Amino acid sequence: MNNRLQILGCGHSESVYNLNNNAALIVNNKLLLIDCGYTIKKALFNQELDVSDVDSIYISHVHGDHVFGLERIGYECLFKYKYRPALYIKEELYKELWDQTLKGSMSKIGEGEATLETFFDVKFIKNDSFKFQGIEIQTFAVKHTPNKPAYGICIGNKILYTTDTTPIPEQIKKHTFEVCFHDVTLSDYNPVHATLDSILISYDKETLEKMYLMSYEDNWLEFEEKVNKYFKGFVKEGDIFEF
Ligand SMILES: [Zn+2]
Repeated sequence: MNNRLQILGCGHSESVYNLNNNAALIVNNKLLLIDCGYTIKKALFNQELDVSDVDSIYISHVHGDHVFGLERIGYECLFKYKYRPALYIKEELYKELWDQTLKGSMSKIGEGEATLETFFDVKFIKNDSFKFQGIEIQTFAVKHTPNKPAYGICIGNKILYTTDTTPIPEQIKKHTFEVCFHDVTLSDYNPVHATLDSILISYDKETLEKMYLMSYEDNWLEFEEKVNKYFKGFVKEGDIFEF
């Protein structure tokens, strides 16, 4: 199996038809989840993958469509499969992720009190970079919700994946990549996601031509012609990018 990025979902958080905007990076047959929303189990199943295939998890930011699946993965890995996946996060996310989000549902288990470390081998990302199976993954701050930390990634200088953000041309310029997956909202105005027009005026033609759009609403077909004209297109669940 070649090294690849596999799209597990491409939907906006309010989407009915598309799963959460999450992906799987598969290197040397090991799987790193890129975000873990509440649709993760179905998303893995749809790709003929299983919870037990999850070796590691990267979390970009603490919103439900990116983290609510951690309870499912954490419980099944610990109780059913008897292991703890590695959890790569920036230290700034820790309190928001555990104390303010997961603790309420995960801190009491049959054996007594549990912490995030009970379920996951927590690895803080230092110096904006970590390695997965020898591939360097650089992290960079994006501009999503005010005062809420959120980080995109650049995988092996090949694939740039923004996660949820408004346009970030100054960040994207700093990285080398062959293909980019960029957040989009198809509404005319949104303070925390990139609108189609804001993307078009923020990046040069060469960058747009390397870009797939993700995290979009269910009315995406209305925009397909425009998106195909300027971008590589809308990315879809199940799309595979080998590298
Ligand atoms: Zn978000």
